[in-house]
Amino acid sequence: MATTVILGAGVSGHAAAQHLSRKLKRTGHQVVMISPNSEWNWIPSNIWVGTGAMPGRKVVFDLAPVYRKMKVTFHQGRATQIHPEGDGTGRPFVIFERTDPGHEGELGQVEYDYLINATGPQLTFDKTPGLGPDGGHSLSVCTREHAEEAAGALRTLIEEMRVTGRRATLVVGMGHGQCTCEGAAFEYVYNVDHELRKAGVRSQAQLVYLTNEAELGDFGVGGMTFSERGFLTDSRMWTESLFRERQVEAIVGAGVQRVEPGRVVYESLDGTMHELEFDFAMLLPPFTGVPLQAIGAGGRDLNDELFAPNGMMKVDARYGVTDPGQWSPQDWPETYQSPSYDNIWAVGIAFAPPHAISTGHVTPNGTVIAPAPPRTGMPSGVMGREVALTIADRILHPEKAVERHASMARMGAACVASTGVGLKGGSAASMLMHPIVPDFSTYPETGRSPATTGEIGLAGHWVKLLLHYLFLWKARHRPFWYLIPE
Ligand SMILES: Cc1cc2nc3c(=O)[nH]c(=O)nc-3n(C[C@H](O)[C@H](O)[C@H](O)COP(=O)(O)OP(=O)(O)OC[C@H]3O[C@@H](n4cnc5c(N)ncnc54)[C@H](O)[C@@H]3O)c2cc1C
Repeated sequence: MATTVILGAGVSGHAAAQHLSRKLKRTGHQVVMISPNSEWNWIPSNIWVGTGAMPGRKVVFDLAPVYRKMKVTFHQGRATQIHPEGDGTGRPFVIFERTDPGHEGELGQVEYDYLINATGPQLTFDKTPGLGPDGGHSLSVCTREHAEEAAGALRTLIEEMRVTGRRATLVVGMGHGQCTCEGAAFEYVYNVDHELRKAGVRSQAQLVYLTNEAELGDFGVGGMTFSERGFLTDSRMWTESLFRERQVEAIVGAGVQRVEPGRVVYESLDGTMHELEFDFAMLLPPFTGVPLQAIGAGGRDLNDELFAPNGMMKVDARYGVTDPGQWSPQDWPETYQSPSYDNIWAVGIAFAPPHAISTGHVTPNGTVIAPAPPRTGMPSGVMGREVALTIADRILHPEKAVERHASMARMGAACVASTGVGLKGGSAASMLMHPIVPDFSTYPETGRSPATTGEIGLAGHWVKLLLHYLFLWKARHRPFWYLIPE
């Protein structure tokens, strides 16, 4: 009987577990999940938690009962080592450190036949001195706890503004020159604006979007051209007009150097240094891979073989193409399989992208200010599903199993920046992009298909709200979950 081990119960890993459970539940083949948190978090809705519009408990649920229902063995723990060659005689295995109450720090070991690394990002606040809520001077919405803290700080500031009539500066954006996830910061600034207006203090607030994008609307994907009834608009103009309408000031091409109490210091693309005083700052951290050691039989160090320098896992991408003029959609991975071990895959943010999508910049001081490529929820879930189905086929029908493909150069993604959680009062700026990685040979004019659109209005808000409930239904493995797409 085969054992598939999944590291990380996030968007991609949980999707893989669900599809493997569906295929293998009654076959005796085993699926094992190792993940440090007892709860699953629908991260996109952390944005609403971060303004106090939604309670934190509504974006999480307990994993253990869901995995019991799915017949997936759940170890609450953090994987620390992968031994792809085992000890030289037995099966490969993974070492993990338990995180469940009463057993913290105890070591566990699980053997595998197939391994999926879905460990997502390591939130590396420490790459920018003073960044982040844990010992730093800025806030985050990356986890439920961070988002709840941000909501508390926002509520306190808004109340103070209301009572005293004081003015305040709120800064939202990227806490490092090489951050990704600009869409999340864009959505958060949109929501903060909404909360300030709702409280009647918008005129007292300077709201600043501080970003490493060289121009607005880049979103780490080199910008988009939206097609609307035959008219083309670029995402720069679209975002600029949205910000102008809501009086959001934008500082682009910023590489944050450090965060001090009430002040952020950043470098611009021309190498000049600037300071911005704030009363509230939500700045996202850069992402790297989570620390995992790869060890061969006899203790051989396999880290360079399995991982890129940023700690993300190497897969079937074409690495080493440094000249943006030479980048091609074919550089992007198809199967997410490790080139070194054909029974290891990495999906979601855990896989090492071949290069950026948007063109980066180096300042005269040598600072790299370059948005990293996003790997958002929809493609992460699809990668998890396709790898799970590849593994299920290999286990159940080895004679005809083929690797499934899910390239970001053919997949689309959606970013819906939505405010408010009710049915009537919300609004949204919705972007649909297809494909994520532009393909100028297929779409010579814009690099993307006419399905790439940007819209503003209540309909997008309803979609976002609906997705919140649908994805939580799906992730809870409730009836007909598999009919809801990733
Ligand atoms: C604030 C915010 C808002 C966002 N909004 C959107 C949105 O609106 N739409 C969208 O499409 N995307 C959005 N995203 C992006 C989306 O959340 C990610 O694309 C998605 O979560 C990536 O999935 P993943 O499985 O790679 O990582 P994750 O979902 O982060 O999952 C990684 C999992 O691995 C676990 N893990 C970590 N270390 C270990 C270890 N050592 N061993 C085992 N497990 C480990 C983690 O605890 C976690 O459970 C947002 C992101 C953020 C931060």
